[in-house]
Amino acid sequence: MTAQFLDGAPVADAVLAGVKVKVDQLKAKGVTPGLGTILVGEDGPSAGYVRKKHETCEAIGLKSHHIDVSVEDGQAGLLAAVDGFNANPEVDGYIIQHPVPDGFDFNEALARMSPTKDADGLHPANLGKMVLQESGPVPCTPAGIQAILVHYGIDLAGKNVVVVGRGPTLGRPLAVLLSNKGDGADAAVTVVHSRVPNLAEYTKMADVVIGAVGIPSFITPEMVKPGAVVVSGGITWEGKKLLPDVDESVGEVAGWITPRLGGVGPTTVAMLLKNTVDAAENR
Ligand code: NAP
Repeated sequence: MTAQFLDGAPVADAVLAGVKVKVDQLKAKGVTPGLGTILVGEDGPSAGYVRKKHETCEAIGLKSHHIDVSVEDGQAGLLAAVDGFNANPEVDGYIIQHPVPDGFDFNEALARMSPTKDADGLHPANLGKMVLQESGPVPCTPAGIQAILVHYGIDLAGKNVVVVGRGPTLGRPLAVLLSNKGDGADAAVTVVHSRVPNLAEYTKMADVVIGAVGIPSFITPEMVKPGAVVVSGGITWEGKKLLPDVDESVGEVAGWITPRLGGVGPTTVAMLLKNTVDAAENR
């Protein structure tokens, strides 16, 4: 293994330290920021992610709120949960944990959220603000990946960045974020996906490759230029084992690589709390 690790933990800690300062200031004014989570169905990994978000809230001093929506409650139950959090003055920001089970319309629920309470930055109005480079909540995993790259001094200005995957929660918003103007961005971004034949031809040319696919070990050493920066945003659970999009052996070729555990995940949670506390400042 020759690559250096892009460890997400110190990045998340730095973000959370800033969040904690704001939480303490808000509490001194009588405002306790609140994060809400909506969990639809009983997906094991999703329940674990929600638990982690609540634990981090407790550690940093946010109040957390939770609504379970069962599959039997259906879309009407999900929309009722959204309406409940929209109306709850103690909830400054909330998320609908995704993916939701088949039969639920995630986009309809997203559009029903109050955009000012959209802690995931995925409401259409907030995605639009990101495109327009107006201030607003930025999707958490893309924001976390950008923070990791900034933290480790990886300058993206003018660099060839290839994002593998174009999903609405990760690949597509990440491509917008990194190609925006400004610090931690200004990259020349290409997005490749399942309809691109020979996509290794793109990744082999890239200074930075980011997996946003959700297929274990999809990115292999042959697909990577020596010394490149390689980030696994996509992950898959196989039982209790977490498998990143980037095969571990890529570490023999890359200059930087996210570790199997503790890469992007901790920064996603930190950005979620940041978005929530930013919303609480405007309560
Ligand atoms: P998604 O909407 O299903 O997107 C997956 C993307 O991968 C699609 O664009 C798809 O291409 C592409 N793809 C699938 N098979 C491919 C192949 N053989 N070759 C090339 N591209 C292929 O999923 P998502 O919501 O964006 O999530 C993607 C991954 O990111 C998942 O593992 C998810 O768990 C992870 N994620 C992680 C976090 C986090 O906190 N770390 C947050 C969000 C997402 P097409 O568009 O052509 O179908």
